[in-house]
Amino acid sequence: MKESMRILTSETPEHEGEEVELCGWVHARRDHGKIIFIDLRDRSGLVQVVFSQDIARATELRLEYVLKVKGAVKKRPAAMVNDKLPTGRHEIEAKTLEVLSVSEALPLPVDTDGYEVNEETRLKYRYLDLRRERMQRNMRVRHAATQFIRNYLSDKGFWEIETPILTKTTPEGARDFLVPSRLQPGKFYALPQSPQQYKQLLMVAGVEKYFQIARCFRDEDPRADRAYGEFTQLDVEMSFVNQEDILELAADLFTKLATVVFPEKKITRTPWPRLSHKEAVSKYGSDKPDLRKNKKDPDELAFAWIVDFPLFTEQTTTDFFHGSGSAKFAPSHHMFTAPHPDDIALLDSDPTKVRGLQHDMVLNGFEVGGGSIRIHQPEVQEKIFDLIGFSAAQKKQFEHMLKAFTYGVPPHGGIAPGLDRFLYAALGEKSIREVMTFPASSGGKTAVMDAPSEADKKQLGELGLKTIA
Ligand code: ASP
Repeated sequence: MKESMRILTSETPEHEGEEVELCGWVHARRDHGKIIFIDLRDRSGLVQVVFSQDIARATELRLEYVLKVKGAVKKRPAAMVNDKLPTGRHEIEAKTLEVLSVSEALPLPVDTDGYEVNEETRLKYRYLDLRRERMQRNMRVRHAATQFIRNYLSDKGFWEIETPILTKTTPEGARDFLVPSRLQPGKFYALPQSPQQYKQLLMVAGVEKYFQIARCFRDEDPRADRAYGEFTQLDVEMSFVNQEDILELAADLFTKLATVVFPEKKITRTPWPRLSHKEAVSKYGSDKPDLRKNKKDPDELAFAWIVDFPLFTEQTTTDFFHGSGSAKFAPSHHMFTAPHPDDIALLDSDPTKVRGLQHDMVLNGFEVGGGSIRIHQPEVQEKIFDLIGFSAAQKKQFEHMLKAFTYGVPPHGGIAPGLDRFLYAALGEKSIREVMTFPASSGGKTAVMDAPSEADKKQLGELGLKTIA
C-alpha cells in the first residue's frame, strides 16, 4: 500500500505552494455562501481550509466531523493574516474532501479552556474533554516529563523495575484498597499505597539503583492537590548513599527537567534552599512554604528541601490505620524511615525529640515528594514497630522485611516525587485532575466508565462474598 501523504497542520507553512493532504476535526466553520472556511484541528494545532461551494459535501460539514482534505498551501492576503495562529499566514485551498466520520453535536465545548464546564460532564465525556488545547498540552507535557525522567535516570545507571499491584498492604498512613482472592476465599490482596517495601527488597536483591513510574493506590478523600484512588510517583531507591546524595540527584533531575519541559519558567533559587522542619514552621508557619518571590507570577518555580523532621507525630486514630490505637506515636513519614544517628538514644528516653532522616521536596507551597534514608538494622526496625504500638500479629505482617534484613542488607534510601503533584504545581493548574488523563471524580466515580459498579451473584459467589449493604 502507498504510504499516506498526510502532513500535520503545523507543518503547512513549510509546504507553501505545494499540494498537501491533511486529516483532522472540524474545529470551527464559517459559511460565507460561496465559500466555506473550516478550521481543521489535529494534535499539532489548527489551519484554515477554504472550500468553494463546488466541492461536494462541503456544505454538509459540521463541528467535529473528521475529514481528509487535499489542497494547495497558499499564502493568505496581508489583510487576512491571523497572527494568533502559528499557521495564520497560510491557508489550504481545498481540492478534494473526504468525510471520514460524522459527529453529533458535542455535549460540551472543546474550543475553550474548559474551566467553565461542569466537571462531572467533563469526566463523563473525558475523551472529548481531552480534545481541548489545554488538555492536549497537559498530556504532551506529562509525556515529555516522563520521557526526560526515564532518559536521565537510565543514563545514570538506574534500572526501571515494575513491582506487583496485587500485593500486601504497604502502610503509608492511608486506607487500603482490598481485592478479594478467588483462589483463597476469605483472603484479600491490598493495592500498594506505594512500592516502598518492594523497592527496599530490591536493594537487598543487589539492584543498587532502582526507579519506577509507579501507580499508587490510597483510599483517601480527594482535595485540590490529591486525586481520589490512584496517583503516579517517580519512585527511586539507591544503596550505599547518604541523604546528601539523594537530595543532589533529585534536585539535579528536577532542575534539568524544569529547564527542558518548562523553558518559559524561572527557578527562583538554585541550589534549592534547604530548611529544617523547625525553621520552616517557625519562619513560614508551614512545612511546605511557598518561597516564590512573586506569588502572582505563573512562571516561577520555587523548589525547596525540608529536612530534620521529627521521626514521630502524635498518633490520631484517623490518620494512621495500622497502629493498635493505644500507642502515642505515628511515623511522621513512614515506619521505615531511619532515626537520625545522633538521636538513637532518645528512642528510649524521649521519642518525640528524635529527628528522622526524612526529606520533603516542596514546590510553590506544595509538598511534591518525600523520602528518607531507611532503617536497615532489624533491631531498630523492631523498636520503631513497638513505639508505634504494633501488636505481635501486626509485626508478623512485616516479617518478610525483618527476615530479608538478616541476609546482608546495604544501607539505602530514596525518594518518591509525585508526578501528578509536580505537574499540577509546576503548571499552576486549578486541580490535580487537570494533569491526569482519566481521573476519578471527587465522589470516587471513574471517568467515562462509571466504576465502581455492582458485581453479579456468580462473581461474588466465586469470591466467597456476600454484600450486606
Ligand atoms: N514511599 C514513600 C511515599 O510514598 C516515598 C519514599 O519514602 O520513598 O511517600
